Amino acid sequence: MASIQFSTPINAIILDIEGTIAPITFVKDVLFPYFLKTVPKTLSQLKYPISSSSQDPIELIVSNFSETITQSQESLTNHINDLVSKDIKDSTLKSLQGYIWQEGYESGELKAPIYADGISNLKKWTSKGKKVYIYSSGSIKAQKLLFKYVDINNETHDLNGYLSGYFDITTSGFKFEPSSYSNILKDIAFNPDETLFLSDNVKEVKAALDNNINSLIVIREGNAPLSDEDLKVSKTITSFYQLDI
Ligand SMILES: [Mg+2]
Repeated sequence: MASIQFSTPINAIILDIEGTIAPITFVKDVLFPYFLKTVPKTLSQLKYPISSSSQDPIELIVSNFSETITQSQESLTNHINDLVSKDIKDSTLKSLQGYIWQEGYESGELKAPIYADGISNLKKWTSKGKKVYIYSSGSIKAQKLLFKYVDINNETHDLNGYLSGYFDITTSGFKFEPSSYSNILKDIAFNPDETLFLSDNVKEVKAALDNNINSLIVIREGNAPLSDEDLKVSKTITSFYQLDI
């Protein structure tokens, strides 16, 4: 593996999550199936019709659906199945998923698969005084949850102590927009030439490069293949160990 050097010292690293420090398949192959497996039991334990003045946290979440939906377990189940099968981005569904995933992490049934080279370099970089930030389209709450329950040899470890900040689309803007990266630079107060952004997504890498941030495309198993055009955008790495920083 060729190592990648930089002309100025790198003091801040901004990381994408899926396809970069964690497998891109985690959400699709682990989190979504876990939700589908768990939700029937969850819904069977609710009191119907759902009351919006309920004290139960899950009843409170689903009470944001209309009353015709929450009048019975059957109609609620059908509605959730419909949203999931059509991949509709519904905020109530997202809240329900977030709640169920949190319980899954807390019970130990879910563990976050952060790549080993990611874990060891997080530790190395922070021990050298560098700051590491996360920028993901998943919510900051979801980001912190993921890094709180990292699978290391089948035990969960909280890696949030190695992270100096979190950014998502609500704090900084969409990941393909160059302005999002200038927003982040302002927030972290580092110059672009001492900052490194890593992502599997070429459009994100381009947007960061537009701000003169050092930026590399990360190639991991399961990521979308890169075209010849993509490969002209920046250098690629397959492991964080290739970074000479
Ligand atoms: Mg990604």
